[in-house]
Amino acid sequence: MSEEVHKVTIMGSGPAGLTAAIYAARANLSPVVIEGGDITSKTDLPGGQLMLTTDVENFPGFPEGIMGPELMGRFRQQAERFGTVFKPGLVVKADLSQRPFTLEVNDTYGGTSYSLKTHALIVATGASAKYLGFEQEQELLGKGVTTCATCDGAFFRGKHVAVIGGGDSAMEEATFLTRFADKVTVIHRRTTFRASKIMVQRAQENPKIEWKLNRNVVGVIPDGKYLKGIKLQGTFEDEGVEEVLDVGPDGGLFIAIGHSPNSAVFGGQLDMHDTGYIKVQGATSRSNVDGVFVAGDIHDAHYRQAITASGAGCKAAIDAERWLESEELG
Ligand code: NAP
Repeated sequence: MSEEVHKVTIMGSGPAGLTAAIYAARANLSPVVIEGGDITSKTDLPGGQLMLTTDVENFPGFPEGIMGPELMGRFRQQAERFGTVFKPGLVVKADLSQRPFTLEVNDTYGGTSYSLKTHALIVATGASAKYLGFEQEQELLGKGVTTCATCDGAFFRGKHVAVIGGGDSAMEEATFLTRFADKVTVIHRRTTFRASKIMVQRAQENPKIEWKLNRNVVGVIPDGKYLKGIKLQGTFEDEGVEEVLDVGPDGGLFIAIGHSPNSAVFGGQLDMHDTGYIKVQGATSRSNVDGVFVAGDIHDAHYRQAITASGAGCKAAIDAERWLESEELG
């Protein structure tokens, strides 16, 4: 029996992937979504970055705001309603050299692997948190060092935590962490912020938040359970300063320094920028490979919003539908 070939397969289950699924399903293309992420991970769940967010206040249609995981649950229900099939796992190999394309998937739930074939592919694999790279950083993840305030904030009730970064994520996490921690210190390597004015202002007005500007984190000092200190090095006019920020006992460091695109599986096959973001043709979602479409943070280093990712998912599904039709595969 010959292997089933899907019309459209979507990699990723964040706002881009699931919006693509809603559109492709309503176009009768029976899309398959390979969810990505890892259910055993605290920071890389299927559903993408909104699974780690608390209040989403800027997604239109929710005037009172909505929690990130609830929003993603609703996306999923809507995609399922029109017949989207969800498959767990991460694509570990993609062969785009021949059509139909072949994907090899590692099922992170059951530990088994499977492969599938698809005529059109929508890549919506998003981006993952960046790390600082100091010694012991990975080893201490979950033991005082974390990239997710939503996941780990509650462990630091009554404690002192630090957040590194000067973007919206850092401001949002710092503000959120004041719900639990007695004191939150924002560490940033400059004195001006990439974050939007309103987010900075909200953090600056919070009496629990203190600031360490012109500082980089170069290490941490564990104290058994979590951390007792964070090693800082001065930048710019504070170059040469070395100090330890005391966060003990049982303090934490929240890393909020941005994300990298999850594009490694397409190395050598899809055209990418030096930063790993996948290139698209003009205002379309088309990649350099015919039949492969791209949506969301995987190609957008600039806007990186749930709503722009959703819009890109819609475009990718429409582009895929028209391409399938033109190839008489729709
Ligand atoms: P980002 O805007 O790229 O900011 C990253 C921050 O981390 C920058 O301040 C950067 O410093 C700093 N940084 C990067 N590498 C560093 C390193 N090795 N050591 C020390 N500091 C480092 O990332 P983001 O804050 O995650 O935001 C990403 C996107 O999501 C943005 O478009 C943002 O608007 C959006 N977002 C929106 C919301 C919201 O609206 N509710 C919430 C979160 C995120 P420099 O500034 O010096 O480069």
